[in-house]
Amino acid sequence: MSMNIAIDGPAGAGKSTIAKRLAKELGFIYVDTGAMYRAIAYYLLKNEISATEEEIKAACPDIDVKIAYENGEQQVLLNGENVNGVIRTQEVSAMASVTSSYPVVREKLLELQRSLAANADVIMDGRDIGTCVLPGAQVKIFLTASSATRAKRRYDELVEKGETCDLAEIEREIVARDERDMNRETAPLMQADDAVFVDSSYMDIEKVVETLLDIYREKTGK
Ligand code: C5P
Repeated sequence: MSMNIAIDGPAGAGKSTIAKRLAKELGFIYVDTGAMYRAIAYYLLKNEISATEEEIKAACPDIDVKIAYENGEQQVLLNGENVNGVIRTQEVSAMASVTSSYPVVREKLLELQRSLAANADVIMDGRDIGTCVLPGAQVKIFLTASSATRAKRRYDELVEKGETCDLAEIEREIVARDERDMNRETAPLMQADDAVFVDSSYMDIEKVVETLLDIYREKTGK
């Protein structure tokens, strides 16, 4: 049986950075489910399809999302095209946060996510992994940080890339995404009963990695 680690938490909590590090340490495959929602949002934006349930339902059969790995890095293929380079914009983030609330979109990705986890040892991050996608995951983590910390991390990332941005605006966007993710009807963001809560507000990356490795060892005896 494959070993599954589920990491859920709000936007900007550091899930992907930490999950990638853990995957390397443990020799697991890292599965970024947010990127799959982003790919669908990108398709809708590109084809000027509005974010209404009806329009999305009609478009869904034309959307094919697949995952491949290149040098250990997840690549998202949208109808055969690698979209990794175009799904990290603010526009796609905002659209994904809205469209991911529709059951038709979530159902479309569920099977793909489960089959990846059934066939390999994975560390998968998202919003509903421990609660809906992999309820039987051997290790579940709910990773969070204050919205101010998450906004500052995102701000620093953008500044490092040479982009101009406004810290207060970033925090507002993060809070709006949290609200949508936590209050939607289907698969809302919440901590699974058997997940371990980790607040990384005052931890650096090394400390979070160490903490999660300790949880993994404790839960699995490895
Ligand atoms: O994690 P990331 O910010 O890339 O995710 C993009 C969006 O996809 C999130 O804002 C969230 O609304 C949605 N998402 C989700 N369920 C997941 C992963 C992401 O609803 N498992």
